[in-house]
Amino acid sequence: MPIPMPPTTLSCPKCGWSKTVVPQSDVLLEGHTWFTVCPECGHSKLDRKKASGLSSFIANVQQSFELWQKKPNR
Ligand SMILES: [Zn+2]
Repeated sequence: MPIPMPPTTLSCPKCGWSKTVVPQSDVLLEGHTWFTVCPECGHSKLDRKKASGLSSFIANVQQSFELWQKKPNR
């Protein structure tokens, strides 16, 4: 049984971009539920920290909505 990853806030130390992601099951979608590089400046060493309760809740709702819409990522 896979262990779900906790909601995580990714932030870019270079430009200040940040996003809270909620990894669902074992599927990490680059650009949706996971980022390995900053989408704003391309910096590849993003800081990770455990998301707070409220921001993880908001991220969960936003993410569900985005995936439901299945829009291409800008
Ligand atoms: Zn950045």
